[in-house]
Amino acid sequence: MKPIGITTTVPVECLIAAGYRPVDLNNLFISHSDPGHLVELAEKDGFPLNTCTWIKGIYGACLEYNIRHVMCVTTGDCSNTLMLMEVLNSLGIETISFAYPPEPDTHQMQEVLEKMSSELGTRVSQAESIRTRLKPVRELALELDRLTWQEDKVSGFENHFWLVSSSDFNQDYVKYRQDVLQLVEEARTRQPYDSGQLRLAYIGVPPVLGRSLYDYVEKNNARIVYNETQRQFAMPVPGNNLAEQYSHYTYPYRINYRIADIIHEASKRKIDGIIHYVQSFCHRAIGDIIFKKTLDLPILTLEGGSDFYLNQHAKTRLEAFIDMLEQSKILRENKKEAR
Ligand code: SF4
Repeated sequence: MKPIGITTTVPVECLIAAGYRPVDLNNLFISHSDPGHLVELAEKDGFPLNTCTWIKGIYGACLEYNIRHVMCVTTGDCSNTLMLMEVLNSLGIETISFAYPPEPDTHQMQEVLEKMSSELGTRVSQAESIRTRLKPVRELALELDRLTWQEDKVSGFENHFWLVSSSDFNQDYVKYRQDVLQLVEEARTRQPYDSGQLRLAYIGVPPVLGRSLYDYVEKNNARIVYNETQRQFAMPVPGNNLAEQYSHYTYPYRINYRIADIIHEASKRKIDGIIHYVQSFCHRAIGDIIFKKTLDLPILTLEGGSDFYLNQHAKTRLEAFIDMLEQSKILRENKKEAR
C-alpha cells in the first residue's frame, strides 16, 4: 500500500479503500526520537519562529521520511494548512485537499465523501466495507477508554497514546488491534487506581509534551480520565454509515459541538477539573474564552511551545491547580458530612 500523509484525522476508510496506507504526520513527528530536529528542518527552510510547533513538525516529518503524497485538511482543522500545502507543492510533494463541511450535516458529509472517493479512484461503498472492517478496531480503542474512566485500570497516558493513534491506527490497523487487545486484556487484570484520586479532563489539541504531562499529574495524586480530542479520533459515535460517523465527530465543527461532548463526558466521568491545552500561535487557543464561560468546572489553561516535556513553570501551575482542586474537594466533603 502506498503511504499517504494526513495532516489530521480524515475519513481514512476512503484512503484505505483506494489502496493507500494513511500516515498521520503528527504521530510521525511526535514519535520521532528527536522531534526538535524535525522542527529545525522546517525553520531552516524558512518557517517563522512564531509558527505552531505541530505545523513545523508535520513539514519536517514529510522531509525526514520522504513522504511524497499528503492529504491536507483545509477546512475543519488548521488555518495554517493552506499555506503548508503550498510549500509542500513547491517541493514537488503531491497534495490532495480535504475539507470538512461547514456544519455536521450527513447530506453534506455524504457529498464530501463521494468527492473524496472519486478523486482517490474508489467509491463510498468500498469505503463502507473498510468501515465495517475497522469497526471492531475502533470499539477496542473505546473499550480501553472505558477501562480508563469506569474501571480506573488504564493510565492517562495509555489512554492518550492509543486514542490519538487511532487517527491512522499507527499505519497498520491489524497490528494496532492486536496491540490494543493485548493491553485491554492485561489492564483488566490490574488493580484499579486509587478511587480517591482527583479526576481530570484534558481538552484541546493533543500535547507536544508527550507523556511528561500525564506522568506529572499522576505523580501528584490525580489522573486524566478523559482525553477529549484523542477520544474523538476513535469516532465514539459511529452512527450507521460513514456520513453519520464523520458528522458525529466534533473536532472540525463549531465549538458548541465540542462543548456538548465535554459537558456530557465530564459529568459521566465525574471530572473534578479541566486542563485546557493550547499550542502557542494556534488560533484554537481563542476558544479558551468560550470554554471558561460555558464549562462549569475549574479550568487550567496550559500553553505548550516547543518544549517536548513539561517545564518547571508548567509543573508549578499544574501542582497549584491540583492543590486547589484537592482543597475544594475536602471542603465539599466536609460540608456534606456536616449536613
Ligand atoms: S495546534 Fe493549532 S495551529 Fe497548530 S497545527 Fe493544530 S490547529 Fe494548527
